[in-house]
Amino acid sequence: MRILALTIDLDDTLWPVMPALERADRDLDNYLRQHFPHVARTWPIPAMRELRASVAAERIDLAHDFTAQRYITLQKAFDACGISEAPLDTMWEIYACARNSVELYPDALPALEQLRTMRPVASLTNGNADLERIGLHMHFAHQISARDIGVAKPDARIFLAAAERLGVAPEQILHIGDDPELDVVGARDAGLRTAWINRAGHPWPGALGPKPDLDLRDLAALVEWLGRHVAG
Ligand SMILES: [Mg+2]
Repeated sequence: MRILALTIDLDDTLWPVMPALERADRDLDNYLRQHFPHVARTWPIPAMRELRASVAAERIDLAHDFTAQRYITLQKAFDACGISEAPLDTMWEIYACARNSVELYPDALPALEQLRTMRPVASLTNGNADLERIGLHMHFAHQISARDIGVAKPDARIFLAAAERLGVAPEQILHIGDDPELDVVGARDAGLRTAWINRAGHPWPGALGPKPDLDLRDLAALVEWLGRHVAG
């Protein structure tokens, strides 16, 4: 395989996402307790999560846009408490601030520093991480998000949009990600090559079809492979 460009997933590939999402829920809850105690009592964290899940299920037209889903959720929570003027932007800011306070896997930053010197790199995410806020934007030639493209992984169209942005044929792009279905199957079906970042060392789920081109323990292993590939 001849790799001329890279696309890389963000959440759970460069950092574990759950701690950041949990902190975001807690920070928002603290704000509500302080400023809107009635809303906080009506919508404790588990109820707010259920409300968001129901919004996601209802609004499949917004499946690619977690930010819009969250705005709608908060509006509904306030509506249910008889408050029509919900401070949506303030709450979004609190949420986004915590959601982007991520702690990188130890191999992530050294890998990003290397990868950008080897090949053009595009981020490719379904989530709403903000690379400027996180301070990693300089490592990426392009940033592709489901929210901007209008479809989410594993839809082939988001991978093809990335290929177009990079100006490289899909079969000459290596997509790197942690999720067997969203990243590996999605990229494979769009004609890209695939690197599964398999930190837990799981066996490949056979029901998902052919194995990824690369099954790697972390991003250091990816840099090592790419170094050999570039040299060869
Ligand atoms: Mg991921």
